[in-house]
Amino acid sequence: MTDCLFCKIVAKEIPGTVVAENEHAVAFRDIHPGAPTHVLVVPRKHVVNLNDAADDHELVGRVLQLARDVAKSEGLADKGYRVVMNNGAGVGQSVFHLHVHVLGGRAMSWPPG
Ligand code: 5GP
Ligand code: ZN
Repeated sequence: MTDCLFCKIVAKEIPGTVVAENEHAVAFRDIHPGAPTHVLVVPRKHVVNLNDAADDHELVGRVLQLARDVAKSEGLADKGYRVVMNNGAGVGQSVFHLHVHVLGGRAMSWPPG
């Protein structure tokens, strides 16, 4: 996708603070962090959200695998962390390239707002 912000970060056409990457997915810090750790994990392949990707088990699994690795490298594996995926503008998706938020380092309430 030529006009996708996260495709451009994946392609390194625009800067991102990358904390981990592999052949399947890239993890970079959110520009407006909502917690001491706030990392976005995106597949290299452009898919809009889970509606667009749910049958691609490997893609979804690889994103979660890298999210798990990032949580560990951020020191959150034992403290706890939250993995969030907004699917659709109605619940707050603002960038239409599938991503999970890895959030941690502060107390969190449930359910989320
Ligand atoms: P969404 O609202 O779609 O679930 O999450 C999109 C996230 O992307 C937001 O938390 C927002 O702060 C983040 N974001 C928006 N633009 C940029 C950018 O240019 N660079 C980075 N690193 N994050 C961004
Ligand atoms: Zn994209």
